[in-house]
Amino acid sequence: KPRALNIVNISGANERNVHLECNIVLLGCRGAGKSALTVKFLTRRFISEYDPFLEDTYTSEEVVDQQTVLVRVMDTADQNGPVNPERYLHWANAFLVVYSIDNKKSFEGCCQYLDIISQYNRGTLHENPVLLLGNKLDMERYRQVSKADGSALASRHGCLFREVSACLDFRLVQQVFHEAIQEVRKE
Ligand code: GDP
Ligand code: MG
Repeated sequence: KPRALNIVNISGANERNVHLECNIVLLGCRGAGKSALTVKFLTRRFISEYDPFLEDTYTSEEVVDQQTVLVRVMDTADQNGPVNPERYLHWANAFLVVYSIDNKKSFEGCCQYLDIISQYNRGTLHENPVLLLGNKLDMERYRQVSKADGSALASRHGCLFREVSACLDFRLVQQVFHEAIQEVRKE
């Protein structure tokens, strides 16, 4: 696992070409929109039907605050709550815990993930940042989880809170991933 934003000097590189790495994992209930957010971030496109069983890790080079960062994104596909969390706990530098604002159950499902991460973070030297993400902001009309509830859960776990949509503006989705990277860099 790369330590929080591992600094790998490319041979012969000067300060400006210092290479940073950041591993980000998306967690949450099936249907929350983890794959849609991942695809949006990587391709700027909204893919409405994505294999719900497919779990994969993708790599992208991102420029964040004028620095190139090698970002790895693990799009998990738990079907019914957390299974084998070891596979990402030791790997991830940042956690994105996703629910859908139009589905109260998906919100409740976040608690298990937040608990596991909190427990893991307590035993580590570097606290890995966590962002709680309310997805499907475009479904405002069908909202079941208030912004206040999302915000309250986030502050109970000492994490950041954002609401996004995988099918609206790309920049907002990109911003959330970049924020996670910035948080990792702060450590
Ligand atoms: P995952 O199981 O968490 O990976 O969820 P998916 O990314 O497969 O998305 C589940 C369903 O929600 C799919 O039908 C998506 O098209 C839909 N979806 C995902 N994100 C959004 C969003 O931001 N807005 C809306 N309206 N639908 C979304
Ligand atoms: Mg998926």
